[in-house]
Amino acid sequence: MRDLVIIGGGAASQAAAMYALGKQIDFLLVCDRFGGRVEALTHADQDYLLSDVLDQCADPAVAADERQLIGSSAVHLFERQLSWQPERRVNDRATRVQRVGQHFVVEMERTQPIMAGTVIVATGAAPRHFNNVAGRHLVACLGYSNTHHVAALAGKAVAVIGDSEQAVYSAAEFAHEAYQVFLVLPNAAAAERRDVALLHRQRNVAVLPGFTLVEVRGVTAARQLVLTRNHERLTLEVDGAFADLGREPASALVGHLVKMGAGGFIQVDRGFATSVPGLFAAGDVTRPEGEHVLAAIGDGARAARSAHFFLLTRPMARAVGQGR
Ligand SMILES: Cc1cc2nc3c(=O)[nH]c(=O)nc-3n(C[C@H](O)[C@H](O)[C@H](O)COP(=O)(O)OP(=O)(O)OC[C@H]3O[C@@H](n4cnc5c(N)ncnc54)[C@H](O)[C@@H]3O)c2cc1C
Repeated sequence: MRDLVIIGGGAASQAAAMYALGKQIDFLLVCDRFGGRVEALTHADQDYLLSDVLDQCADPAVAADERQLIGSSAVHLFERQLSWQPERRVNDRATRVQRVGQHFVVEMERTQPIMAGTVIVATGAAPRHFNNVAGRHLVACLGYSNTHHVAALAGKAVAVIGDSEQAVYSAAEFAHEAYQVFLVLPNAAAAERRDVALLHRQRNVAVLPGFTLVEVRGVTAARQLVLTRNHERLTLEVDGAFADLGREPASALVGHLVKMGAGGFIQVDRGFATSVPGLFAAGDVTRPEGEHVLAAIGDGARAARSAHFFLLTRPMARAVGQGR
């Protein structure tokens, strides 16, 4: 029986593990892929074409991994520190978390179930991808992350595809620097939203409701995006294209147990507690809007703090309950 089981190997769970180490909590980190999205962000997620532009602008004083993803060097540091404690890690996939009396049982794919006093779920969320879009190197051509591209695209034309909060936020960031921003909204109704309407007032923003992407042309220079809406066809010439079609949270292992929000993201309070006492969640699995590595690190540390407080005060909570 462990005091704490942390499920996930990304920024949120590693930060939780570092917090638990500091507080000498008896914990286990269960993950099927150590490093999470920080390690998995490759050409599949990034804009391959833009990496040329970025290399030219890159500040040589900044570490290469920070140029790719701010906060990743902190995660690499956590990884190194945690690798000195291999006994705290189980390389397996958790399949289900069950509540048994006052404890939890974490069921595993290949190894024995683990009993725990508290659990933090930090299993992340995967970006949704396009289906049925023609064009060579499609995945390489579309970047899902705009964080480092805004400066590189100053004075250029950019398309942002998607109506998620993150897509609209990204379009607003680009509108400050780019010459022209196209916001493509496959769901036409999203054009009625207040955030979209506010953005539309900017002179260099064109909102294209109801259009879907069918083809990407060009891989090494200005590229073309072919869009359709009913029988209408539109070709955009852009220097960069970004998409955010929303995310799929990896929350199924607690789907039967905790309260979920829209889209299957785990609902948490300010202390990252779920609706089940002793069960916490952190990072992208709780955030429909998707966030940053830095935010996931903060979430993980705060969830671990809450789990620690829960462990410290649980005997008192029982005594108060019995005294009633
Ligand atoms: C395409 C893309 C681009 C991004 N670009 C940026 C950017 O430029 N800058 C930035 O700061 N942020 C960016 N982000 C966001 C950032 O990567 C995430 O916010 C952050 O990595 C989330 O960390 P996490 O720990 O919550 O989840 P993740 O990093 O996704 O980690 C989840 C972990 O849980 C493990 N796991 C899942 N299910 C199970 C299970 N059942 N059992 C055991 N282990 C399990 C996974 O293997 C993984 O190790 C981007 C995200 C995406 C998707």
